[in-house]
Amino acid sequence: MSVLDVRGVRKQFDDHEVLRGVDLSVNQHEVVVLIGASGSGKSTLLRTINLIERVDDGQILLNGDDITDPGMNADSARSRIGVVFQHFNLFPHLRVIDNITLAAREVHGMSKADATERAMKLLVSLGLGDKARDYPDRLSGGQQQRVAIIRAVLTDPELLLLDEITSALDPQLVGEVLDLVRRLKTDGSTILMATHEMSFAREVADRIVFMQGGRIVEQGTPAQIFDSPQEPETVQFLSRVR
Ligand code: ADP
Ligand code: MG
Repeated sequence: MSVLDVRGVRKQFDDHEVLRGVDLSVNQHEVVVLIGASGSGKSTLLRTINLIERVDDGQILLNGDDITDPGMNADSARSRIGVVFQHFNLFPHLRVIDNITLAAREVHGMSKADATERAMKLLVSLGLGDKARDYPDRLSGGQQQRVAIIRAVLTDPELLLLDEITSALDPQLVGEVLDLVRRLKTDGSTILMATHEMSFAREVADRIVFMQGGRIVEQGTPAQIFDSPQEPETVQFLSRVR
């Protein structure tokens, strides 16, 4: 069974069809990378999976549970998915340690001691132990983004969604964030991510999914997509980004 099963998902904003029937599965421990031009629907797809946007048609199953079913509790579905976006979503008025542990305590009912212990272990192992008591504005963008990732994985989500998590960073800070994603992959996380970092996509992805105009045009291994793309749209997109 797939961790994620997107079936025939459609989404329209006014009369603009942004997702035109998307089918996509992600298996356990798999890293799937969405590529495609700006406006192709990558973020909207990730947002429908996290139930930020409601689908107009189709279904999204998380480990077999239809989370788009109107009877499904959206908050409980969301709590099973870790999410990090392009812009840092840390609360400026909370210290790093409280940013990381807040949802674990309030949504997942983890004890403060457990949440703090887990968070400190992760922070220390990433060289951020001395930042725990700082407020986010004392951290670099790369450090903030790593804190956001730690927060997203603290409760072992079934699925991790990463949307252009390095796009807002200065180039010299991108590497430390990508290192953390490599490590999550090694640790067995199941990840669906959108990125413009093609060399990273090639390295980390088990599967590349190319989107254009709200549709999946082509998908395959990094070697298939980058070395021998089959669809003219894929060829054209890759020639523009390389
Ligand atoms: P990508 O992440 O691939 O750049 P998006 O999913 O952000 O693409 O956007 C796909 C299309 O949907 C774009 O044309 C965008 O303008 C439109 N769009 C996204 N969100 C909204 C919204 N909330 N309201 C109206 N249009 C939107
Ligand atoms: Mg986007």
